[in-house]
Amino acid sequence: MSKATQAKWNALEKAIQEEVRKNVFCVNCGVTTIVDHKIILGEYDTVLEGKCKKCGGGVTRLMESDWL
Ligand SMILES: [Zn+2]
Repeated sequence: MSKATQAKWNALEKAIQEEVRKNVFCVNCGVTTIVDHKIILGEYDTVLEGKCKKCGGGVTRLMESDWL
C-alpha cells in the first residue's frame, strides 16, 4: 500500500471502516465480512478487494468517493 493510499485510508473514521467491512457482497454467501483486504485507489473509484470471511472467495467492495 502506498503512503498516499494509507493516508487516505487512515482518514476514514474507524466506525465507517467497520461498517464497510461487514457490508460486502459475496456471490456465494450474500452479505458477508471482507478479510485480507487491500485498497485499490483508482482515479475515480476506490475499491476494497479481499476475501469472503465465510467461504474464502474473492470479493470486492466499491468505496463511495464521498467517504474519502
Ligand atoms: Zn462467501
